[in-house]
Amino acid sequence: MKNLLTTLISAAAISGSALAQEPVWDGNTVMLESQKLADGVYAVIPTGAEEMAANGYPIATTGGFVVGNNAVLVVESMLNERLADQLFDLIAAETDKPVRYLVNTSFHGDHSYGNQYVPEEVDLIQHANAAAYTREHLEADKQFMIQNFGEGRGIEQVVHTDADILVAEGGALTVNLGGISVEIKDYGFAQTGGDLFVSVPSAHVLWTGNAIVAEKPALPWLLDGHLVETRDTLKAVHAAFSQDTKVVPGHGPVTDMDAIQWNIDYLNTVEAEVGAAIAEGLSLDETVARVQMPEFGGYALFGWVHPGLNIPAAYNDLK
Ligand SMILES: [Zn+2]
Repeated sequence: MKNLLTTLISAAAISGSALAQEPVWDGNTVMLESQKLADGVYAVIPTGAEEMAANGYPIATTGGFVVGNNAVLVVESMLNERLADQLFDLIAAETDKPVRYLVNTSFHGDHSYGNQYVPEEVDLIQHANAAAYTREHLEADKQFMIQNFGEGRGIEQVVHTDADILVAEGGALTVNLGGISVEIKDYGFAQTGGDLFVSVPSAHVLWTGNAIVAEKPALPWLLDGHLVETRDTLKAVHAAFSQDTKVVPGHGPVTDMDAIQWNIDYLNTVEAEVGAAIAEGLSLDETVARVQMPEFGGYALFGWVHPGLNIPAAYNDLK
């Protein structure tokens, strides 16, 4: 978690007017819908996500829920009260089983700021590092989020919510909901150092959180650096799941294992090209200018994420 805020703030500065003036997406207008992936297994996706993803546009947070004979587990609590309420309405439309668990895939506010609106009897599951981060940095994190997602989107109202169940670094947890089980696991540093992957092994469904933003052409955001660890984590995840797994990314329509491979390919290419630039003695600015990788273009945020965030992160990581 080192230097996280510094990195976030410099990322915001790099992003400049494009992100500062207009929210990446608008938490006051996004509409969520549920999509059944298997018996008892649902993704929750912003409406229009398929078309937006195909055009490389950024999409609001994706989540889901799993319904067992005894209980329901929810993935993510979304950015604000409005979206958390929509999520719980979608669950109520499918089942009257009680929601007993909610897991955040990371501390990022668009995945966890809705925690305070979750009913008291629900056990909140977080990575220990995510819980520690929000306990210590919530106010600064809210300022960063307001900068990127706008004022008046419900971020001002967020208060700290304590987790009930913590997953330790490298840890895993299996939650039996009655007739169906959910696995929650830390595969290593994926974006924040407190990243959880959630899966239903019997249904071959995997939620990745932000580690996979969306299908190609979306790219990973190395907000906290760690190029090599991130790539290695994604390789471990890719190896752990069968090729027919349905992948619910952090911000996009349901996709497949090729989305994970696309991210691995991108990070491998960044490592090779930035590594070569460093070996030749190029400065950061020279490296950014050289390592353009147009073959990975197409993402609407490419002009910020690649030269402004990922290449500097890779340069610092490899140097
Ligand atoms: Zn996110």
